[in-house]
Amino acid sequence: CGIVGYVGKDNAKNVVLDGLKRLEYRGYDSAGIALIINRKLKVYKKEGKIRNLEIELNKLNLFSSIGIGHTRWATHGKPASKNAHPHFDCFQKIAVVHNGIIENYVELRKELQSKGHKFLSETDTEVIAHLIEEELKETPNFFEAFRKAVSRLKGSYAIGVISSLQQDKIFVARKDSPLVIGLGEEENFIASDVPAFLPYTNKAIFLDDFELAVIKKNSVEIFDFNGEKKEKEVHTIPWSI
Ligand code: GLU
Repeated sequence: CGIVGYVGKDNAKNVVLDGLKRLEYRGYDSAGIALIINRKLKVYKKEGKIRNLEIELNKLNLFSSIGIGHTRWATHGKPASKNAHPHFDCFQKIAVVHNGIIENYVELRKELQSKGHKFLSETDTEVIAHLIEEELKETPNFFEAFRKAVSRLKGSYAIGVISSLQQDKIFVARKDSPLVIGLGEEENFIASDVPAFLPYTNKAIFLDDFELAVIKKNSVEIFDFNGEKKEKEVHTIPWSI
């Protein structure tokens, strides 16, 4: 199970697929990727090997400067392409990848269903996209909606989100599941583990529990769960780990 994300000058599709392959050692049953193309969110997923997803994607000649990807190790809902991540909201404007377990997803799903949300998968993860969608009805600020949605989650999570409403940003959150940010030149990365982006950069910020981040091509901002900005140490990783 792993998460990879990219925003920058290169083709996100290639960087994310490449990063997912470098995380294959973590084990998985399906893989998926979300990209923003022509201002719309596009989601591709497949059961089985990353190679299957790659073959399908390579037929499509896609270019995107932002994307997130996921390899899934099923905990809630059987291994199947409909349960593969990314998951999204009712209007396919918000894509979510998640490692870990949302322990209160049954209550959250019931609450969201009572407000009219339709669910397409059996996963615990899908509630996250719908929670953000719901919070966006209260605030136009996407980061605020993300922060409020995350604060309702119980359990363990590393989360990556992109949205067609925020074309240039990756939003991340962490509690009890690893998440690292890679700092490049006119490009930045997220991943569950450093090898995913080490061919591109060896500068990294390790996210701690109860931290959020907003990642753009030329900036990375870290926040606590109250939305207060934090300064974080930048680590230099030896190239040959
Ligand atoms: N609990 C989530 C699921 O079953 C995420 C599993 C993972 O960490 O890959 O879809």
